[in-house]
Amino acid sequence: MKRGKVSLVGAGPGDPGLLTVKAARLIAHADVLVYDYLAAEPIVALAPPTCERIYVGKKAGRHIMTQEEIDALLVRLGREGKRVVRLKGGDPFVFGRGGEEAEELAAAGVPFEIVPGITSAIAAPAYAGIPVTHRDHNPQFVVCTGHEDPAKPASTIDWAKLADPHRTIVLLMAMGNLREIAARLIAEGLAPATPVAVVREGTKPDQRTVTGTLATIADDVERERLEAPAVVVIGSVVELRGRLRWFDSGALAGRGVLVTRPPEDAREMTERLYELGARPIAAPLIAIEPPRDVEAARIAARSVGSYAWVVFTSRNGVRACFGHLDALGLDARAFGGAKIAAIGPATAQELASHGLRADFVPETYVAELVAEGLLERTGTGDRILLYRAAEARDVLPERLRGAGRACDVVAAYRTVARRDAELREKVGRAHVLTFASSSTVRAFVEALDGDLSPADGKVVACIGPVTARTARELGLRVDVVADVYTADGLIDALEATAIAGS
Ligand code: SAH
Repeated sequence: MKRGKVSLVGAGPGDPGLLTVKAARLIAHADVLVYDYLAAEPIVALAPPTCERIYVGKKAGRHIMTQEEIDALLVRLGREGKRVVRLKGGDPFVFGRGGEEAEELAAAGVPFEIVPGITSAIAAPAYAGIPVTHRDHNPQFVVCTGHEDPAKPASTIDWAKLADPHRTIVLLMAMGNLREIAARLIAEGLAPATPVAVVREGTKPDQRTVTGTLATIADDVERERLEAPAVVVIGSVVELRGRLRWFDSGALAGRGVLVTRPPEDAREMTERLYELGARPIAAPLIAIEPPRDVEAARIAARSVGSYAWVVFTSRNGVRACFGHLDALGLDARAFGGAKIAAIGPATAQELASHGLRADFVPETYVAELVAEGLLERTGTGDRILLYRAAEARDVLPERLRGAGRACDVVAAYRTVARRDAELREKVGRAHVLTFASSSTVRAFVEALDGDLSPADGKVVACIGPVTARTARELGLRVDVVADVYTADGLIDALEATAIAGS
């Protein structure tokens, strides 16, 4: 039996981009993932489908398992020879009870390792534009638990020592005692006007920051209804937020963005949205499925080399083609001397991942322009293969045939509408609705049974003019149309538009 190992892994404060490379690798190969409420959902999602996921809870006052039960669980799983990732918010040794869990594992003789993570104590202030040290402000900072009520005589914290104006104080788990702590620090000599920031859900799309002073912060937080988990920063460095605010100042920060693309196409868009502080809401409205005539698609894939040009109109077409070639024991050499056209940069990129460079990528994708480009590059009688979606428009083949080209059209895949029982609720949470193809718009309208009222007041963003036209025809008001017809182009266009939605 292989020896098990328990990795105590810091998940960072929430932004999946702040996960360490080592943590990501361990999660991707874990047999079991043991996590609690601070571990962000997109990080838990990195575990392979075969990985067993055990949620052990732990939120102030709401424990699913006691610490002893968690310790025993880790020891048992380690002894079973499993690769166990014990995922902890932030850094495992900063108030994470990682030390205690490691002690239990050491005592039980179970091999373990520690993978440090980025702690919220530094990252949450950083994402709020607050450096915990700064030469013009404080040369030191202290990270302290705020879990102890300073009014209780049993408090082990030396509040008099803590109340030093030359030191930034970072408090974790302090929301329950904030009023008492602020009062105590004033009583110990800190100026009531000392700046304070409270950063909730730091580095996540829900990040919110309330600033005030030691004298006002408890009331400010109450008024703004800010709850745990939050990091409290006390000291003059808080003033720097006025100039250094960045994460929560962009047009998309904190905005819910409905992503309707199929999961295999949605990843890049979702990652970019996270980077911008937006909250992607996955609602895949279409799925990519094999075409009705799989045999025709297979035969066409095998004979790509016999065409003068092969035209791909989406990444999915490229993937389908290579799926067939692979199954036939073939590879990119099947294209022989055939020239290749890709409809846009994403399609060209997919081709590149299979070692093929597109010979023609039109500046903008409008079927008419693609046809012109191909006509310039071909002669009468040349054979052209269009490897594309079953439900594509006929403009392109008609134009090519009209000019005397021999054009074969093959359905490489079809897009089918997917039902999402939670669509209305998801639309309700979104500020922005994104559509990357006409088929997603149609599926959206269908899924809402034609009642488009949930979309009222939402910003509707389309990847290009064709999708926008479909949206308008079906009764949606379109606010944003990308200039570059890619997911990145769509997000750029959204960023450039002041989002006035709710
Ligand atoms: N090991 C963790 C801290 C665990 S204690 C770390 O290094 O970050 C739990 C406390 O951490 C919470 O009460 C809160 O004060 C803080 N915290 C964790 N993640 C946070 C986040 N994303 N934003 C703000 N505070 C967070």
